[in-house]
This record gives sequence, structure tokens and C-alpha cells, in this order.
Amino acid sequence: MSDAPDVFSGIAGQPHLVAQLRAATIQPVHAYLLVGPAGAGSAPAARAFAAALLCPRGGCGRCRDCRLVLAGEHPDVVIFVPEGAFLRVSDAEEITRVAMRSPVEGQRKVLVLAEFHRVQKVGPALLKTIEEPPPSTVFVVLADSVPPELVTIASRCVRIDVAPLTEATLVEALVDDGVDAPAAAAAAGAAGGSLDRARLLVSDAGLAARRAAWWRAPERLDGSGAAVAVVVAELVELVEAAAEPLHRAQAQALAELEAKVATSGGRGTGRAGLDATHKRALRRHRADELRFGLSTLGTRYRAAMETAAAEGTAVAPLMSALDAIVASALALSRNPNEALLLQALFLRLPALSAEQGTNLGRPSARVAQTAERRSRKA
Ligand SMILES: [Zn+2]
Repeated sequence: MSDAPDVFSGIAGQPHLVAQLRAATIQPVHAYLLVGPAGAGSAPAARAFAAALLCPRGGCGRCRDCRLVLAGEHPDVVIFVPEGAFLRVSDAEEITRVAMRSPVEGQRKVLVLAEFHRVQKVGPALLKTIEEPPPSTVFVVLADSVPPELVTIASRCVRIDVAPLTEATLVEALVDDGVDAPAAAAAAGAAGGSLDRARLLVSDAGLAARRAAWWRAPERLDGSGAAVAVVVAELVELVEAAAEPLHRAQAQALAELEAKVATSGGRGTGRAGLDATHKRALRRHRADELRFGLSTLGTRYRAAMETAAAEGTAVAPLMSALDAIVASALALSRNPNEALLLQALFLRLPALSAEQGTNLGRPSARVAQTAERRSRKA
């Protein structure tokens, strides 16, 4: 492949994904499934891939097709994001309708189906459309994971797994944004491999306090349901407060839209779409926060387990604590009642003393060093 910049050049830290999509542009099949955490690059990669499929030069990044696709304005690239918590029958009908239509401009159209792990009941209704679209239609399906409802559709797609971005990649991207090294390392460590989340966490003054609250939660357990209720109520409150930077960013986006409408004299165009996007972002943020909390908790119990193993004390209760934490993290994708989920979890966790496992769980030295090197270079 040539080294000239193209539509894929801006996708950080995903060489495997980019190489596969580049190769696929030569003779694309009817459907691709990109599986990996949101914010790790699937969405920009899908857009770049769509541009590459429409561009006469395979994704030069400069022609009209490329520019329109990257700006989200090409009539033959439709990005479909479900508005509700799950896909509805009307969503499935809309996707099928768009898939069946001929391209407006060229030989090909690309349908990007975002957040498709939320397909739930409408999977069977979409199976035929996705496995046998008109020859001019290419599907790019994006999903955080492959829940049982998505397995059959997944089997009809070329699947590409998208790894979470490494902490080093996130630090690098943040430092390139102009963030200082310690803040970049802290945000990268709590971002779960997502660049979107890392960028949000950078402006989040409460991050360290939230990490500490989850880290210390096991020290506050005493085997009683009352203690669990207090701890869980506080953690849920922290999760809610954590959405503050996002609320601020959304208020600003809304103000910008309204200013634009005011100067162009138009109606409230785009307002409903923006509201829906914001609601989705808030829901995702909440899930990310809980996942971050559970992963912090998991790190604490893992550290306690390593100490116990070294000292020859009982490991089994700590191991089942870890299993319970992992199970709760998996259950998050099912939209559970969060307080109940956390209460059930904390009732199963053994209390830890302040000394158990306290020397681990900080951003690793290696990442901090990378951050420093990058910021010196910048
Ligand atoms: Zn082009």
C-alpha cells in the first residue's frame, strides 16, 4: 500500500482494522460486521470505508465523493443509528426500504448500521435484507458485542474484531490534542479503550474522586444490607454527577444549532435529531461510567487476590468476587436497573481491609512515561 495520506490515515491505533478494510475495498462483499467498543475507531473507520467504496481512486480523501462522505453529506452513504434503547420494527422497515433503493449518484450505496448490538427482536426481520441486499448495496454493521440476537446476522457478514485502543494510543492522541501528560494518562487509564470517552474524561475534574470511591467501596462493606444500600446510593449518585461535562458539551452544541437556525432564519431543523443523539450519548456515558466503576472494583479484588496468593491466605472468596463483578459488567448491556444490579453484586462481595490490594490499580508507569515522552516532543 502507498504511504500517501488517504481516508484511513486519521484512524489512530487500529492498523489491523484499517488493513482489513483497505483490502476489502478492492472487491467488497455484501456485509461487514465490526465488533468492538464504541469510541475505539469503528465509527470513523466505517465512514472511511464507505468513502473508499465510493471514491473512484479507492479513498483518496480529496475528491468530491470522499469529502461528502467524510462530512456526512453523501446521498449514497446512510448512517443509521437507532433512536430508542432498542431497534423497533419501524427501524427495521426503514433500513430495508433504504437498502432496496438504487444509489442516487453512482454504482454503489453504503448503509452503516451503528450500535447494532441493540438489535433485539427485529434481528430476524432484517436477516434477509442484510444477507441478500441488491448488488449495489454494502452493509457495514457496527456492534459493541454480539449478543444472541445478533449471532445469525453475524454469521452472514465478514466479521472484523476491533480491539479497544491501548492506553498508550489514547495518551498519544490526547497529548496531540494539547492535553498535558498527567491528565492524559489519568483519562486514558479510565477510558476503557475509547478515545471519545478519554476526550470527555480530560475535562472531568471528578474523575480521581470517582475512581477512589469505587476503589474504597469494599472497605465500607460490613456484611449488612444497610451498608450495601448506602454505598450503592453514593456510587449511583457519582455516576449521575459524572455526566456534568457531557451536559455542558451538549448545551453548547444545542446553543450553536440554535444560533445557526437564528442567522439562517430556518425552522428548528435538526433539533429533534440532536436531542436523540444527546439522549443516546447520555445513556452510553452512564453505561461507560458503570463499566469503569466495575473495572476499578475488579482491579482492587484482583490485587487483593494476588496479595492473598503470595501470603498463602484464602483466595477462593476473592476469586468468586471477581466472577461476580465480571458477570455484572456483562449484564450492563441488557439495560438493567442499575441500583438493583449493584446491590445484588455488593451483597456478594467480601469486605476488604484498607491494606488489601492497595499498591496496584494506578495508571501503569509505562503509560505515564509514554505520556511524558509525547508531551516533551509536542
Ligand atoms: Zn476520493
